[in-house]
Amino acid sequence: MKKAQKLEELRNKLLADNPTPELAAQATQAVFGSGNVDADIVFIGEAPGKQEDKTGEPFVGAAGKFLDEMLHSVQLDRNDTYITNIVKFRPPNNRDPEPEEKAALWPYLLKQLAIIRPKIIATLGRHSGQAFIPDLRISADHGKPRRLHVTLDGKQESIMILPLYHPAAALYNGGLRAILLEDFSVVPKLLTQEISK
Ligand code: URA
Repeated sequence: MKKAQKLEELRNKLLADNPTPELAAQATQAVFGSGNVDADIVFIGEAPGKQEDKTGEPFVGAAGKFLDEMLHSVQLDRNDTYITNIVKFRPPNNRDPEPEEKAALWPYLLKQLAIIRPKIIATLGRHSGQAFIPDLRISADHGKPRRLHVTLDGKQESIMILPLYHPAAALYNGGLRAILLEDFSVVPKLLTQEISK
């Protein structure tokens, strides 16, 4: 079965299982993820916001525009990546996702990754970073790639995790813009390194 078809089946399973019924009930729709299913790099944000809830696509609002800018700064665009979130439904009033919501949706994210099999996972923000690296301190650890062993489909995979600040943070803290762009500048080298392994 093709990756796109497997992802579609997983999306349908998520909707059928409905592991976060309260969250799902108040959202317009699931924002499952989008982009290139063969991408070597996957971006993982926190949860959909208002625009994402409306369109069903991740990172289409203001933070998404900055993510596009970051991608363009290293000659990439969305078609070179797959983009998703830890939480697949918009939390009411953009509140932080609850630990139980993140935990309930985590297995679906792992299954997504097992289908895509990226070489690099770039986490966007603290929630996403700490899902992979529980003791992550974003202020100290941003932009420093580290290799992690992630169990996908029962098999240990070695994946490079690149913890990044959330692009939305740069919208209200101008100083973070330059930091994010600088952290992002390692992506081409990291991709070449990981693809040649
Ligand atoms: N912020 C996120 O973390 N994810 C989105 O999809 C949009 C904004």
